[in-house]
Order: sequence, then C-alpha cells, then structure tokens
Amino acid sequence: MIANSKRACVIGAGFGGLALAIRLQSAGIATTVIEGRDKPGGRAYFWEREGFTFDAGPTVVTDPDCLRELWAISGHKLEEDVELMPVTPFYRLDWPDGTKFDYSNDEEDLKREIAKLDPADVEGYYRFLEYSKAVHHEGYVKLGTVPFLDFKSMIKAAPALAKQQAWLSVYAMVSRFIRNEKLREALSFHTLLVGGNPMTTSAIYALIHKLEQDGGVWWTKGGTNRLIAGMVHHFRRLGGTIRIGDPVAKVETAGDRVTGVTCESGWHRAFDAVASNADIVHSYRDLLGRNQRGWSMGRKLQKKRFSPGLFVVHFGVEGTFDHIAHHTILFGPRYEGLLDDIYKHGVMPEDFSIYLHYPTASDSSMAPEGKSTFYALVPISHMGKLGVDWDVEGPKLEKRILDEISRRLIPDLHERIVTKFSYAPKDFATDLNAHLGSAFSLEPVLTQSAFFRGHNRDDVIGNFYLVGAGTHPGAGIPGVVGSAKATAGLMLQDLAR
Ligand SMILES: Cc1cc2nc3c(=O)[nH]c(=O)nc-3n(C[C@H](O)[C@H](O)[C@H](O)COP(=O)(O)OP(=O)(O)OC[C@H]3O[C@@H](n4cnc5c(N)ncnc54)[C@H](O)[C@@H]3O)c2cc1C
Repeated sequence: MIANSKRACVIGAGFGGLALAIRLQSAGIATTVIEGRDKPGGRAYFWEREGFTFDAGPTVVTDPDCLRELWAISGHKLEEDVELMPVTPFYRLDWPDGTKFDYSNDEEDLKREIAKLDPADVEGYYRFLEYSKAVHHEGYVKLGTVPFLDFKSMIKAAPALAKQQAWLSVYAMVSRFIRNEKLREALSFHTLLVGGNPMTTSAIYALIHKLEQDGGVWWTKGGTNRLIAGMVHHFRRLGGTIRIGDPVAKVETAGDRVTGVTCESGWHRAFDAVASNADIVHSYRDLLGRNQRGWSMGRKLQKKRFSPGLFVVHFGVEGTFDHIAHHTILFGPRYEGLLDDIYKHGVMPEDFSIYLHYPTASDSSMAPEGKSTFYALVPISHMGKLGVDWDVEGPKLEKRILDEISRRLIPDLHERIVTKFSYAPKDFATDLNAHLGSAFSLEPVLTQSAFFRGHNRDDVIGNFYLVGAGTHPGAGIPGVVGSAKATAGLMLQDLAR
C-alpha cells in the first residue's frame, strides 16, 4: 500500500472507471469518482419500470476472475457483494431456416452441435480451438493488461502478432478451419459484442472463444447493475468517495500538468492525478479542450473509425417462456451483406440479426411473478454514417424488431407487452457523451489496437490518464477491466514518486 496524501480523480463510473478506482483506493490513494448521470454503470446503467428490471448494456459476463481480482487485492471476495450464476447454453444461435445451435463449453455437447451441422467440421473445430488458445495466451494473458505507451512496445509484440497472422480477420481465420457457413458465423460473431466487424476485426479476437471456454459465461443475480452496485459498495468500503449526478465540465491544467477538475454544478477540487473513463473524444475535445493538447487530440481522434451504434428494445411481457434461452442470436438472412450495410454503407438495413436477452430464463427476480423481462439488440451504423431522425425511425425499427420476435418466437408478443421503450444511438450520445453515438468507442481493428488505441497515460500531460473502451485492449467487461489494471499500474508508479 502507498501511504501518502496524494489524491486521484476518476471521471466516469463505468466498469473501467470503477475497476481503476478500486485499484487506486486499495493501494491507499484517496480516490474520488465523479459520474455525470444519476446512477453509476455507464453502458451498464439500468431502469426499473412496473416491477421489471432492465439492464441497459452488458449481460454476458466472461472471465469472472478479472473481476474477482478487484476484491482479492484488498483481501475481500467478490462473493461477499455479488452473486454470479453460470449460464447454459452460453448462446442459442437460431437461423431463419429453423436451424438451431446451442453454444457452450461442454465439450461433448459442443461436438454434437457441430456434428449436427457438419460432421467434417468437428476436426476443424479442434484446430480452431488450438489457434484460439494461442491467441488467448499472446493477446489476453500476456498483453491484455499491459499499457502500450510507445512504438517500441508495439515492435516487441509484432513477432507474436505476425506468427498468429493477426492481419487476417476472425471470419477469414475461422474459414480456414471450418467449411460450414453457419458454423463460421457461430465461431466469428463474438467480435460484434465488442463492436468489431467479424469480416475486418483482427483474428486475434478469436481469443474470445478460448476466454469463454475456460472462464464460462455468467449472469449476475439481479442483473449486471448488481455487479456495478457491488463494485461501488466495495469501493466505498475501502474508503473511496463517489460523486453522482454532476458531470465534469472541465479538466484544469497548468502547462503540461492537470491540476484538478470543475463540475457543471461549479464544484471544484484539486487532484494530483486525473483519469478519464468518459468517451475518449469527449475527454480530450470537451474536458481538456482549452489545453492545446486536448484540442489537437480531440481533432485527431475524430478522424478515427468508430464502432457502430446499437438500437435496443426493452420490453416486459405477461408470461414465461421455457423454449427461449437466456441469450439467443436470431440471425437474419444475410451475414456479410448485413455487416457491410452497418460498417460500410451506413444505411438502415432491410433485415437484421437480433441478440435477444431473456434474463428471466435464469433469474426470476428480474420481473414480477409470472412475467418476463427482455431486451432485443441490433447493431446499426453510428450517427456519423447513418443520419436519420431517431424520433421518427426509432418507433418503426422497434416495431420491425418486435414483429420479427413475434414471428420467430412468441406469436402473440404484441398482446403480451406490459411495458416497452427503446434506446437509440442518439441516446448513447446524449446520456453518455458517446462520440457519434457509438456503443463501443473506437472500432477494434488492428490499426486502432494496442499502441494505436488511446494511451493509458497521455503522452504530453503526464498526470492525465485514460481508462475504458477507448484504450487498450478495448470494449467489453474483461477489456475495460484489463485497461484499468494497465492504467492503475502507471498511476501508482507515478504517484509513488
Ligand atoms: C447494449 C450493450 C451491450 C453490451 N453487452 C456486453 C456484454 O454482454 N458483455 C460485455 O463484456 N460487454 C458488453 N458490452 C460492452 C461493455 O458494456 C462496454 O464496453 C463497457 O461497459 C464500457 O465500459 P467503460 O469503462 O468504457 O465505460 P462506460 O460504460 O462507457 O462509462 C463511462 C462513464 O463516464 C460517464 N461520463 C461521460 N462523460 C462524463 C463527464 N463529463 N463527467 C462525468 N462522467 C462522465 C458516463 O456517464 C459513463 O457512466 C455491451 C455494450 C452495450 C452498449
């Protein structure tokens, strides 16, 4: 523990911000988290309506050990504050022709599911698993929590990246081992969960398969919001301070040093170090904008590629549904064509693939007795590509999504709905300051990874740090919790001086 009187500030209480704050406070740094919204969580915000609990964002918890570490560093156990429940199958994949595939880490079940689609691909799957193991070791275990601050660190990682043919896409790599198109989709769609197009995201992201095989897929009892509540409780127990509902308006600087922050309410504090978990463009352009560095980085970052938006329909319904799994992917008729529409063409697609989240399947506490909570999520181009009026297009898209679920899973869905509302890219922009309404920040392509992503410590302003989806290694709970470890390492080193 560093016993000194240094004070740190973390702007934003997303998973990354809270994980960083816990690490700093555990090490004896008096840490204040400042969150702009009325509740912590960021993408993992939640709503309660008519007895239903609706988580806003992450629902699939992978690599729970990266979370357990946040408690273990101060001698606590995650289980004191949070109940994690295993989910099986991890996902049910469902194609328009009626084909279904239950995806899990039970080897026999998985082999049987693969053989149902193409027996010849069982052998290819094992070769893919070997590849996934190798990239998991290189990309996640060795480099997932390491800050890439200079080009030298990138050069060091280059031989491993070259050996794993990181320039190929996940889909191209999977296709080397697997011949059945549906299985190719089943083993490559995961990059969408961190904002990446399977057709262009580096094959390194095939590591997600191994991550899920080893660590499983988990659900937090009461919803992902309970995991956030557990992190906040743990942080406060350690002595940390959290200020809610007061957005930071300005990060103050003197020369190349941050001196403190000022909130919209006028509240001001001096800090020895400031880390931003807020959107990376917002952090530089808006919060540090009066400093030359903030202004120029803001401009530079806006030229980068951002991952798509999401349109999410939340709905609570009468009844429960044994035939619906906790996580279902309802694939549409097109895979590559749809991805092109979202990532390249920036049009409102004619068709869509839906991720349907049905938490009541695992946890009846998410809805009133005899009722069910759902959300249906579709990736959609971000606002820089798709310039529609979401107040007009949102209700139309919501209806199309609910119609599709009704057609494929719950015929009388519309009559059963008790409450519903939707969340569009413009809401990500308004509520979270998300640049272009992007759901996952910078797109995870090789040219925007590691050294080429946001640096955990700014190159010029030595006591300004970043944490979360815009930094290495990127979006997703394990990603941003990993980025918190990298940022905390740097901050603790600097603050000990
Ligand atoms: C719908 C959806 C589903 C997802 N599903 C999964 C999943 O199943 N599994 C998974 O692992 N990942 C999933 N993800 C990705 C994952 O949720 C995110 O990558 C991750 O939560 C982002 O965390 P973060 O630390 O970057 O911070 P964020 O969640 O982006 O939080 C940043 C915080 O900063 C605050 N802030 C912004 N500006 C200011 C300011 N000026 N002052 C103060 N505070 C400010 C915001 O209000 C916010 O609370 C999903 C994402 C979405 C959107």
